[in-house]
Amino acid sequence: LERTFIAIKPDGVQRGLISEIIHRFERKGYKLVAIKLLIPSKEFAETHYDDLRGRPFFNGLCDFLSSGPVVAMVWEGQGVIKYGRKLIGATSPHNSEPGTIRGDLAISVGRNIIHGSDGPETAKAEIALWFKPEELV
Ligand code: ATP
Ligand code: MG
Repeated sequence: LERTFIAIKPDGVQRGLISEIIHRFERKGYKLVAIKLLIPSKEFAETHYDDLRGRPFFNGLCDFLSSGPVVAMVWEGQGVIKYGRKLIGATSPHNSEPGTIRGDLAISVGRNIIHGSDGPETAKAEIALWFKPEELV
């Protein structure tokens, strides 16, 4: 069954949006198969966002991801990778539609509260980076 990696970033945790975000995935019908709270190191954040190395915002982005607790999760279900991105909304909250997580809850691209894998390959790699196999139910 299809799985994706979803993370509530430090701003989402700090703003008290954990239950709100989990609720949206749950009520759609997806199944939570792994969850943990952790503060990623800067180095870990750089590995997670490795494909963005060299972008002007890379350093700030990795500083931010490692600035506080993150809720790391794996969600399972048919089409969850693509539809999860749909629930999340466009990268910049200026462009994300009302009804999406970023559209409803965020206003800044650098503080867009949630991460979701962008395809099957990244989902696989990100799940393996953030979780040990035995942590998946
Ligand atoms: P994520 O990978 O976090 O789910 P995304 O896939 O929608 O987001 P990416 O292009 O992978 O977008 O960018 C990763 C993160 O980098 C974005 O979520 C955002 O916080 C930050 N970012 C992207 N573009 C910019 C930008 N132009 N200025 C500042 N931050 C940016
Ligand atoms: Mg991305």
